[in-house]
Parts: sequence; structure tokens; C-alpha cells
Amino acid sequence: LIVCRRLWKSYGDRDVLKGIGLEVNRGEVVAVLGPSGSGKSTLLRMINHLETLDEGEITIGGRYVGYAKKDGKLVPTSGRAQARAEVGVSMVFQNFNLFANLTALENIMEAPIRVHGVPRDEAEKMARQLLATVGLSGHADHLPHHLSGGQQQRVAIARALAVKPRVMLFDEPTSALDPELVGEVLSVMRSLADAGMTMIVVTHEMNFAREVADRVVFFDEGEIVEQGRPEDVLDSPTKERTRRFLNRLG
Ligand code: ATP
Ligand code: MG
Repeated sequence: LIVCRRLWKSYGDRDVLKGIGLEVNRGEVVAVLGPSGSGKSTLLRMINHLETLDEGEITIGGRYVGYAKKDGKLVPTSGRAQARAEVGVSMVFQNFNLFANLTALENIMEAPIRVHGVPRDEAEKMARQLLATVGLSGHADHLPHHLSGGQQQRVAIARALAVKPRVMLFDEPTSALDPELVGEVLSVMRSLADAGMTMIVVTHEMNFAREVADRVVFFDEGEIVEQGRPEDVLDSPTKERTRRFLNRLG
């Protein structure tokens, strides 16, 4: 479903992604691990069309993300939200990024109405269903600052789902949470995975990677060092860099 080829990205003279190739099948859950600064967020931001590529290409379901092919050349398209909607990709961030002045319900309704032109009553109905899915039916009218971090992140997941994405990207979705709130978010993600959602999850939650991911990809210095089944990569890594990283996590 997702195909990334030869992705290169530099900031100034710093190469952040060095020829990444990654394919993700429909329904597959891929956990991305790696040290800070290795380029994990940059990869997700590119797939979500928040960042431009220096070289390479990304397609989702055969469609270029953020680019159209014109006369054999890739030309950046305008309208990022629109482009994201067309390829069907949605992202959840470490710091929730909810609209602070909108209620939980309104946060979820925003994109369907503004980007997809869904009628208001229909958007509201769907938003209420999504709130129920993430266990927050009783919190529809709460503003983000009246919700716990775990609740905010669950609203953010509902909001990401509201555009009916084919692909969900998660960038360290539980890293900003108090430990006791991590479980409720992971459990929503696990349900999504069980329901067949295609997901790329950057995470340091080894148990989640082990139990939910179909594949673990280990990133270091802008390269994929090693990838495979969770039990293989996590229990018997073949590369020294992977071993060192896993040892440090303990
Ligand atoms: P972390 O685990 O800390 O989130 P990461 O693997 O997600 O790290 P990235 O955020 O992708 O790493 O960053 C990779 C490198 O690119 C870092 O060295 C970072 O400083 C650099 N970088 C990222 N975004 C920019 C930017 N907009 N301008 C300049 N440098 C950037
Ligand atoms: Mg990051």
C-alpha cells in the first residue's frame, strides 16, 4: 500500500534520510524504533506531506504523496490537507496537537467539514461514534485542557480517523504521557490494528512493538539498519547498532 523509494533528505549539510526504502502492505502494522535524531519523525512527516523530499518518491495506493507527475517529472502539488485526504493518510503526534479552542467533538468534526465537505449533522454523528470508539462518549463538550493527556490523545486518534484514512501514522503517541495513561492509548491503537488498519508507529514501547507490530524496523542515522519480525529483531538482532540500542533501553 505504501511504497517509499530512495528517500533522501538533508537539512543544510546534514543528511537526515539516506536513501530509505520501505514498503508497507495493506493491514500491516510497522513499528519504527531508533535513537533520537535518526530521522524517524522526518520519515513520517514526509509520508504525511508535511515535509518535502530532496530525492526519491512516496506512493500510497499508487498515488504520489504531495507530488504529481507532469511530463515525467514530479511537481509538488498545492493544498496539503487536500492531498492528504486524496491519498488517505492521517497522523497522530506526540503532543496531541488538538485545537485548543474547540471541544473534543468539534476537533473531530473539523477536517470532515472543512476538507471533505461533509454536512455538519453527518460529521457530528460520525464524530460521536468515533468518540464512543475511543471510550470518550461522555467528554464530547470538553475542551482539550479539561482532558487528561491520555484522553486528549484518544481524541486526537478519533480526529485522525474522522477522515477515513487508509493509513495511520503515529509519532511517539505515548511519549508525552504519564505512565499510568499510556495503556489506554495503546489499547485504542491495538484495537485499530486488530480492525485491519495499516499503521506505521514510531514508538519506544517495546511491548506494543512485540505484541502488535507485524514488523519492526530499526532506524539509525537516516538508514534502515535492520528489519523483520518483532521477535527476531528484538530478541536476536543481527546488527551491532541494533543490539546497542536495545541494550540501552534495558
Ligand atoms: P526523536 O527520537 O528525537 O524524535 P527522530 O528520529 O524523530 O528523533 P528527526 O526528528 O526525524 O529524528 O530528526 C532527524 C534530524 O533532522 C535531527 O538531527 C534534527 O535535528 C534534524 N531536523 C529535523 N527537522 C529539521 C528542520 N526542520 N530543520 C533542520 N533540521 C531538522
Ligand atoms: Mg521524532
